[in-house]
Amino acid sequence: MRTIKAQNIIKTVNLLLTSLLVLMAYADLFGQQRKPEETEVWEPVPPVVTPGVGNQPPSDAIVLFDGKNLDAWESVNGGGPAPWMVMDGYVMVKPGSGAIQTKASFGSCQLHLEWKTPIDTAGKHSQERGNSGVFLQSRYEVQVLDNFRNRTYSNGQAASIYKQAIPQVNACLPPGDWQTFDIFYNAPQFDSAGKLIKPAYVTVVQNGILVENHFEIKGNTMYIGNPEYKAHGDLPLQLQDHGNFMAFRNIWVRNIQD
Ligand code: MG
Repeated sequence: MRTIKAQNIIKTVNLLLTSLLVLMAYADLFGQQRKPEETEVWEPVPPVVTPGVGNQPPSDAIVLFDGKNLDAWESVNGGGPAPWMVMDGYVMVKPGSGAIQTKASFGSCQLHLEWKTPIDTAGKHSQERGNSGVFLQSRYEVQVLDNFRNRTYSNGQAASIYKQAIPQVNACLPPGDWQTFDIFYNAPQFDSAGKLIKPAYVTVVQNGILVENHFEIKGNTMYIGNPEYKAHGDLPLQLQDHGNFMAFRNIWVRNIQD
């Protein structure tokens, strides 16, 4: 009897010890558990930017065209005043006068603009219809074109990175409707010897629809031949004169971090 009792006592003590060890292990685990505060980062504090109401620019935007004048722009041909026609709240390409560019230079940026293609499409097909373009850093063209029921080569249609990237979808509205581009652009980086160390990337949203998603730009936009990078720093934004009565309005830009 005594032996059995002794064995029971030993069993009980063992059980108690095991339970204690398990409890201690849990306690240790809890003791080591990280606190949520450890992964909170409080600096730096993002600056406050007030979003625009409706289609108005945000508070930190550099307004390039607000419908009133082309003071922020100049002619690419000769650098004089921008020769395009300021109408009631918008600017229209003056065909044959050449491209216009911003007086200021930009690197990585967020660019908003609105454009409208001519309603008179008679006899115009493919690249002849409502052609213009946004040249990021004067070199990399996001195509502006009327591709509403107008076929052209896919890597040259609206929102293509001209002859480099086909847009994921055709988000064009009919001629005469205002359309939006929101472009998110990371400028390329070059070393001191002019060698490319980081290509440019671009994301394009047309009329609220993602059309280019972080596309790696291959180099300068070329009409003939393959794109190639040539080292550069900050450069103006350009709008193309391709001989069509294209309208633009509400153009603003924000400098962004890569
Ligand atoms: Mg073009």
